[in-house]
Amino acid sequence: MNVPLDNPRIAIVGGGPGGLTLARVLHVHGIDAVLYERDASRAARAQGGSLDLHVESGQRALREAGLWEEFLAFARAEGQDLRLLDPDGTLLLRQDTPDDAPLSRPEIDRADLRELLIDSLPQSAVVWGRVFERATPLPGGGHRLHFTDGGTADCDLLVGADGARSRVRPLLTDARPFHVGLNTVESGIPDIDRTHPELAAMVGRGNYWVLGADRSLSAQRNGNGGVRVHLGFNTPEGWLDDCGIPFDDRKRARAALMESFADWAPQCAALIEACEDRFVPRPIMMLPIGLTWAPVPGVTLLGDAAHLMPPVGEGANMAMLDAVELGLALATGRGDLVAAVRDYESAMFERAAVAARESADILKTLMSGARGLLELFQRQAGSR
Ligand SMILES: Cc1cc2nc3c(=O)[nH]c(=O)nc-3n(C[C@H](O)[C@H](O)[C@H](O)COP(=O)(O)OP(=O)(O)OC[C@H]3O[C@@H](n4cnc5c(N)ncnc54)[C@H](O)[C@@H]3O)c2cc1C
Repeated sequence: MNVPLDNPRIAIVGGGPGGLTLARVLHVHGIDAVLYERDASRAARAQGGSLDLHVESGQRALREAGLWEEFLAFARAEGQDLRLLDPDGTLLLRQDTPDDAPLSRPEIDRADLRELLIDSLPQSAVVWGRVFERATPLPGGGHRLHFTDGGTADCDLLVGADGARSRVRPLLTDARPFHVGLNTVESGIPDIDRTHPELAAMVGRGNYWVLGADRSLSAQRNGNGGVRVHLGFNTPEGWLDDCGIPFDDRKRARAALMESFADWAPQCAALIEACEDRFVPRPIMMLPIGLTWAPVPGVTLLGDAAHLMPPVGEGANMAMLDAVELGLALATGRGDLVAAVRDYESAMFERAAVAARESADILKTLMSGARGLLELFQRQAGSR
């Protein structure tokens, strides 16, 4: 296939940070793409916590997307603050971000990032409530997309930005995510300054991490006045189904989760008790590190669909960087879609492998407890 780059039909499946950034970068370069998103509307689903955007990836993506000023309106430098504790409540580390610190890893609420990206696109660029099911190759090149509502759409390039459980991925590889030995439960304390001022002061402006050798609790301040609480359990796949915690019954789940942290410093159970949001169980999965595939004309992946990695702060950043690199390759490509996608993929494979390896190492350290993380910080400081 040698599809000219002047007017390709580009379909993006998935409106997370990766898919939306790609749509925006293409739009900035005068290339129309249609993004199909499973959610019925932009407000259909709560977006969860906050993301720290790194200079070389997430921040670069927003600059290339022409959205830097919009980002600054939401960016919270103080969101980088960290308090690190042992399960018995011993404070091991307190890092407060100075007022004049550079914006190395500012936080932005996931919901704000999504809104900012959606608002930057023409309304017709995002088709809501369209669930991609499968794609079939077209005789002259490209693919026909089939949606669960029976509808179809044809494209020259299909970009799977549909996250961890990508349905586009099987067009390129048989690889599947595997469990990393960690299960998490997420909830939140809305309006914490008013409802629980003492817990608000304890958590501070950024991250409050209590890490043990078999469990963890982290509380993270969001820009909307709330705090997201994540509980981690170093347990095997299937544990969330077998543990007996009724996650769909908020009150009983809360009591059971408080009980499971009863032997830790009392503020841990207090944070769980203050949670008012739904408790969302989540097994943590990753794709094999260094995953690659042979090029398939007319289809590619970005973000979690391509390289799902442990959630230690790289995933959204890498998804947005993929989006910029792919968008620029398509906008400035030398000849045809196949060459642009091949160039994008070969660079993406390399950087994703590095980020995934680092993420897996960091996850191992986090799962070993607070002292291990403290030692890592000290080693990093010593080598600077
Ligand atoms: C608890 C937690 C904390 C995290 N913290 C951070 C962090 O601090 N920093 C960071 O960089 N990363 C973090 N991550 C990772 C980050 O969330 C992901 O890497 C990032 O969201 C990936 O973006 P994406 O666009 O590739 O996919 P996603 O964000 O997963 O978006 C995929 C989109 O595709 C849509 N979709 C799925 N299937 C279909 C379909 N069949 N048809 C149509 N649409 C579909 C979905 O509705 C969704 O909107 C965290 C992850 C978790 C779980």
